[in-house]
Amino acid sequence: MQMLIGGKWVDASDGGVMSVVNPATGEVVDTVPAATKEDVEKAIENAVKGQIEWNSYPLYRKLEILEKYAVLLTQNTERIAKIMCEEGGKPIEQCRIEVAANAAIFRIYISAANTFYGHTLPYNAEPRSQGDVAFTIHEPLGVFACIVPFNYPVELAAHKTAPMLVTGNSVILKPASQTPRSALILCELLLEAGVPANAIQCLTGSGSKIGSLLASDSRIAAVSFTGSTEVGIEIAKYCAPSLKHVSLELGGNDPLIIFDDCDFELAVSETISGRIGNAGQTCCASKRFIVQRGIAERFKQELISRLKELRIGDPSDPTVDMGPVVSEQAAIQVENQIRHTVEQGGKLLYGGNRNGAFVEPTVIEATPDMDISRDMEVFGPVFPIIVFDTKEEAVQIANNTIYGLSSGVITEDIRTAMWVANNVQAGACIINGSGNYRLAHQPFGGYKLSGIGREGAVSTLEEMTRQKLISFKGILK
Ligand code: NAP
Ligand code: MG
Repeated sequence: MQMLIGGKWVDASDGGVMSVVNPATGEVVDTVPAATKEDVEKAIENAVKGQIEWNSYPLYRKLEILEKYAVLLTQNTERIAKIMCEEGGKPIEQCRIEVAANAAIFRIYISAANTFYGHTLPYNAEPRSQGDVAFTIHEPLGVFACIVPFNYPVELAAHKTAPMLVTGNSVILKPASQTPRSALILCELLLEAGVPANAIQCLTGSGSKIGSLLASDSRIAAVSFTGSTEVGIEIAKYCAPSLKHVSLELGGNDPLIIFDDCDFELAVSETISGRIGNAGQTCCASKRFIVQRGIAERFKQELISRLKELRIGDPSDPTVDMGPVVSEQAAIQVENQIRHTVEQGGKLLYGGNRNGAFVEPTVIEATPDMDISRDMEVFGPVFPIIVFDTKEEAVQIANNTIYGLSSGVITEDIRTAMWVANNVQAGACIINGSGNYRLAHQPFGGYKLSGIGREGAVSTLEEMTRQKLISFKGILK
């Protein structure tokens, strides 16, 4: 497959390519261009022009085009889902759901854009403003570099491109190297719907090369990044010299706190669904299970017996619950993290094995001092269980981490739930559910090293624009 620059399918300027591998089989299924410095330069030049053109379209016309895209996307569900499943190893039904989420997110931003109002300021609040009328308008920031990870290539692209486009920005999308083709199709459909050729482009290739070129170029107004904390910090440094607007959706090691008085069945099912989706590779998946002592033994036993029932295998088989992780290399990393936890004294209760890119669901008894209980994010189906006695202790364990993306608490006591929600250091707290929860309207984002900014229709339009004040001085005098 080629990449999309200036509305044309092109190869890299030097003809270089990168392989796309199916993690379930280890086979190379395609190649995409490995964009060069020259390609990045061309895309940025185009995007500067494309932004001016796109922003000149009236709002109703922009929104008609984006609505047409949502229709085209839905018509292309099977085509995109198959590609996502093949290159990412995500079970096919989860891929279909993700395509539907992309369309839903676009529609929510289309509707939000229609009511994205400015302010009229009180005109006689200070003696010096008597007689003035002042109001604000929103202007687009300009060209956005939009860098997304492999785990939700279609949904995360929507969380960025939809608010960027409804507000008149142009976009250069840089998908992860493991999952580049679904992003290319999304851009193809945006073009087919009528977005101008230079307003949406897609560059494939290595993040450390083209991502850094994009983030450090002064013609790029803003970078919206989702991925690891390590890379996020690097991007913030690239952005600093030009004081670029940067939003960072980063890693997490989210707690799910389960109290003795919980609905036990709910606790076990939320534990599994909050962790197993996409083989554990979700930013806001529950990654630490903090369980009160009175039910801890029963909880471990029930969790293990339920994990034994999961169907693991070919992600294109619709009856499969869990496929591989994104690559054999990623699976080896998870395997090493399991080994490291056992070396630190963790007791392996179930699983722990790897076969190619497939990792067995794994249950480990852990203590609060271990890396897995604090700052080591595991991107795979691993369940560390940490036992606690009091609610204060549970929240202390939950907060004892560099991260703070999402969280969950399961209890039948509303006071306990609210106490946890008020004291947990995380961007969200889901009561009676896993923190693996993301709605398009929700302000999604983290505390601490989980990021800067929030994505979601209640706040992102503000982040994608700047306010300008216009004042008629003395007009009422
Ligand atoms: P990653 O390694 O940080 O990669 C994310 C993106 O950044 C990819 O497109 C990658 O390109 C690019 N990239 C890599 N190095 C770069 C650099 N030096 N400069 C600019 N761009 C660069 O993350 P990942 O391993 O794919 O994804 C997993 C991480 O993302 C986890 O920590 C997860 O928690 C986090 N995540 C967070 C959220 C959220 O909303 N908070 C959502 C999903 C995932 P290449 O693929 O070409 O390297
Ligand atoms: Mg990576």
